[in-house]
Amino acid sequence: KSNQISLTFSSIAENVGIARLLIASVGGQLDLSLNDIEELKVAVSEAVSNAIIHGYQNVPNNIVYLDLDISTDGILTIVVKDEGCGISNVEQAMQPAYSTDPERMGLGFVFMQSFMDELQVESELEVGTTVTMKK
Ligand code: ATP
Ligand code: MG
Repeated sequence: KSNQISLTFSSIAENVGIARLLIASVGGQLDLSLNDIEELKVAVSEAVSNAIIHGYQNVPNNIVYLDLDISTDGILTIVVKDEGCGISNVEQAMQPAYSTDPERMGLGFVFMQSFMDELQVESELEVGTTVTMKK
């Protein structure tokens, strides 16, 4: 059967752990290996962290949206959305080791890409960013 779950939460780092718990629990209901579930947790953490750190520039009183959909055929779709600053060049942002912060590794999108079957990033400056991933 299909299933939809939505979680909205404040843009604070503590909530990355809440998002991880939710995806681990949902992953446990699917026919996934422990390794797959670990990878789902990393992909979701990276997308949610990006929304908080980059999208909202660590300003706490903003909202991050996490929507999960499991289709009848067992496909998990994860949508992480922020209404933050947006990304000026998505293609460049997704390059391995690219970061606008010299202190960071620039590997978030690389993990999302390699751990998920599909990754789509839509972004508009001053409107926000939506990351859609499928497994
Ligand atoms: P790491 O994830 O390794 O800590 P990082 O966050 O810089 O480093 P990515 O997650 O790959 O690396 O993101 C690359 C760049 O894309 C970021 O440096 C940032 O400029 C931009 N970016 C990513 N997500 C968002 C977002 N939700 N809103 C605005 N900019 C974003
Ligand atoms: Mg990142």
